[in-house]
Amino acid sequence: MEEFYEYDEFRDRVSTIASDGQRVWVYPKKPKGKLFNYRKIVSLILLTFFFGAPFIKIQGDPFILLNIIERKFIIFGMPFFPQDFYLFVLSMIAFIVFIVLFTVIYGRIFCGWLCPQTIFMEFIYRQIEYWIEGSNIQQRKLDDQVMNFNKFWRKTLKHTIFYLISLITITWFLAYVIGMDAVIAGLNQGIFAYPGATAAVIIIAVIHYVVFAKLREQVCIIICPYGRLQGVLLDRNSIVVSYDYKRGEPKGRYNPLENRDEAGKGHCIDCGACVQVCPTGIDIRNGTQLECINCTACIDSCNSIMKRTNQPEGLIRYASERSIADNTPLKFNIRILFYSVVLLGLLGLIAYLFTQRTSLETTILRMSGSLYQEYDENHYSNIYSLQVINKTRTALPLEVKIAKPAGGTVKMMGDPLLIDRGEVGKANFLLVLGKSALTSSQTPVEFIILSDGKEIDRVKATFVGPNALDR
Ligand code: SF4
Ligand code: SF4
Repeated sequence: MEEFYEYDEFRDRVSTIASDGQRVWVYPKKPKGKLFNYRKIVSLILLTFFFGAPFIKIQGDPFILLNIIERKFIIFGMPFFPQDFYLFVLSMIAFIVFIVLFTVIYGRIFCGWLCPQTIFMEFIYRQIEYWIEGSNIQQRKLDDQVMNFNKFWRKTLKHTIFYLISLITITWFLAYVIGMDAVIAGLNQGIFAYPGATAAVIIIAVIHYVVFAKLREQVCIIICPYGRLQGVLLDRNSIVVSYDYKRGEPKGRYNPLENRDEAGKGHCIDCGACVQVCPTGIDIRNGTQLECINCTACIDSCNSIMKRTNQPEGLIRYASERSIADNTPLKFNIRILFYSVVLLGLLGLIAYLFTQRTSLETTILRMSGSLYQEYDENHYSNIYSLQVINKTRTALPLEVKIAKPAGGTVKMMGDPLLIDRGEVGKANFLLVLGKSALTSSQTPVEFIILSDGKEIDRVKATFVGPNALDR
């Protein structure tokens, strides 16, 4: 690939930092095209989900709740408790492996199509900017002007709307933490009813605003850990937005009267359209770069140029560096197939882990420090403590019975056990066994946990008695 580069200067610095260290502000041209339209649809679906999900309830519970403060978690309508933390850890490990494998094959598709940073930036904030300040050229002119009335009202309006959107977004995000009902109730009481929460929302909204009004592509280039990892995750076989230098080079100005092949020119007419639309300010013709978020704006832009110059589309396209170097079409090869199968396997593992979660967690232990008692001349008794975590959505009346050995009796202490949803219930009980039922000094026993007469769990324990000689 190097043979086509007359200079490698672009490798010396990040595209948005000038040689004197100053930020180079990017004014990308408004993209349009087939892929941009698809991305609009994907963004609309994701934004609808983000703003709609807090209103969805399942049996009175939010669809998603991530209440770290009160340790209440509901994911896709399924309540989770701190006791399920191992599931979270396992899922996270599987998820990280998933991300690594996904990136090795499909590059930064996530960044361009699904990342909230890109969606909010390109489909909300940037669109408002085009609406208020005009095209990229008009924006640049406006910034170059000294302050005047036109600049003042446009900038004020833009930044006010930006901040309001940040405020709404963070308030919405709060609904994922404490629930939409609590947010609405809090707002109805007025913003001074909870000064701490109000201050937190205002401050986080300021950070959100700064990210989208000022930092922008710097988040993807410098701050985002996933972006920083790209250098080690991508290889020559990864699918990325690529410029087909074999076809495009040598570049040359377009002349409708000229046959480019005969003139020794490649398909790139050096129009710069791909550079103008790039939100990270790079020239994809220099090859894969860490700044590229695979937003596909340059693909759309170049395709429209190819159409206008009667050349085949796809000079910039999704391709691997190897497929371009070897001049072969991107194939669904064994490597992609293998990695995709592993990815599906990981998704299956995560789903399996979630289905294995029980809705009731019961622990029965002999009370610490207790020994057996002689209940009457024919029976011994042991005292047990029972702990039940009710992970269901309903309150559960519980009773304990003995399954093995037959003939034993469970005598509960205290009130009948009723455990509210999401609560941990505790009780003590006696197990009375006939002396003849003891098989050793540690007789295995099995309890059945019932709710409304229906068996919902079984727990094994041991019954301590005297050894055979003392019985
Ligand atoms: S190079 Fe193309 S795909 Fe990459 S960020 Fe720029 S416009 Fe998007
Ligand atoms: S848009 Fe296409 S033709 Fe124009 S400079 Fe970029 S690669 Fe070359």
